[in-house]
Amino acid sequence: MLFNRQTFLVAGLSRSGIAAGEYLVSRGAAVYLYDDVDDENVRAAISRLEGIGCKSVPKDELPGVSERCDVLVLSPGIPVDHPLPVSFKRMGKRIIGEAELGALALRCPCIAVTGTNGKTTTVTMLEGILRAAGIKGVACGNVGKPITAALGELGEDGVAVAEISSFQLETLYSLRPHVAVILNVTEDHLNRHYNMENYIYLKSRILKNSAESEYAVLNYDDPVVRGFAEKTRARVVWFSMREQVEGGYLSEGKFFFRGEPVFPADELPVDGDHNRANALAAIVAAKLMGVGNAAISAALKNFRGVKHRLEKVGTLHGVTFIDDSKATNVDSAVKAVESVKGESVILLGGKDKGYSYEPLFEAIKRSDVVHAVIYGENAFRILNAALKSGYTSVTLCRPFDLAVRVAYLSARKGQNVLLSPASASFDAFSSYEERGKRFSELLGLLRAEERTEPAERGERGE
Ligand code: ADP
Repeated sequence: MLFNRQTFLVAGLSRSGIAAGEYLVSRGAAVYLYDDVDDENVRAAISRLEGIGCKSVPKDELPGVSERCDVLVLSPGIPVDHPLPVSFKRMGKRIIGEAELGALALRCPCIAVTGTNGKTTTVTMLEGILRAAGIKGVACGNVGKPITAALGELGEDGVAVAEISSFQLETLYSLRPHVAVILNVTEDHLNRHYNMENYIYLKSRILKNSAESEYAVLNYDDPVVRGFAEKTRARVVWFSMREQVEGGYLSEGKFFFRGEPVFPADELPVDGDHNRANALAAIVAAKLMGVGNAAISAALKNFRGVKHRLEKVGTLHGVTFIDDSKATNVDSAVKAVESVKGESVILLGGKDKGYSYEPLFEAIKRSDVVHAVIYGENAFRILNAALKSGYTSVTLCRPFDLAVRVAYLSARKGQNVLLSPASASFDAFSSYEERGKRFSELLGLLRAEERTEPAERGERGE
């Protein structure tokens, strides 16, 4: 792509917008900046980028500036049917994301990981495995470090381990991963992508540029992902927790790759079949990159999980608080109720994304969940699904802080308070991280209160 004679408008000034602005300026492009939001973070981003020569555009000047721009760099947070990209499309101009700039600039091999759930976990495992093998693996993309911000570190001898979301896939055209991993596709983001067909199509786009010399690592156990095999020219290598497929599989408690045992599944320090599936996908991708079993074992044995994913954040009077704030859809919350050990009071709710919560209550009925505390903007939709499924052990309690207190009061000694909300956080928080942080803060507040009023409660669980 030509940079130094082109004018770019970077829209959406969070992490990836900042990285795109910095990268474009370094390539000699003229860069305008725009964000619908005017808050402290956006103002800080504008000031940082204006310091290197970008120009911020006020809303009323946007139409005029858009006409002068050649390319729109759209944040993954802004849907492609927002009026700004629609106006660029009408003018016949290019709309790309920061990940596309990264894909165009990468000079090293790339492993790309997509799927509804497990991307960050798998990418983090893979980075650890590559590093244990002495390869400069860099986790980048949706995981937090934009691809353009990782370019320097990657150079020509690194391996980009890129987490790619469906939002990024809307504006990503040139990525050609050496290994593309698709973990699973279940209902999510229907408020953004409208229907499952569109969401599935977007996920399949990660394989669009693959040729026979590249690999597609696909989950044999997921019917949607299995179907992608027919749509790619890449060599398909399967992974399965259930069957001895051509690729990676679980047998006699060990992960195998093409007939060879690689790692004992019970040595993975994180719980849940879903995490074992993520590890298996990471093993297959690593083997295809030529990594040996010793490096895989060393890295997986030391994998401690990722923050806000089934993270035990503390215990109070025998009640364990588990922060799974990143469970922002039904399937991830289902995996939580299936894999958390012991009885739990679950906290559910937040911003709705347009899917049905009934499968979650079907899983809850089969699980060790003893009670659900429902909060947030979608509380009545969730309550409705609970009652339709015949699950009545529920309390509706709208504000988050109060809901956490109620969950704690409902839990008995030896049980968990499990925040696995099956919903986005944006009704009350700026991110799932902020929601998880508040959960831990509330544990701290409850602890402090228990110190000042210990006698009133008495021994729990009696
Ligand atoms: P992503 O990056 O795709 O959002 P994460 O690794 O951050 O995935 O995990 C997000 C949520 O999904 C967490 O609640 C986690 O426990 C759950 N999860 C992780 N792996 C899987 C999987 N393979 N299938 C379903 N849920 C998963």
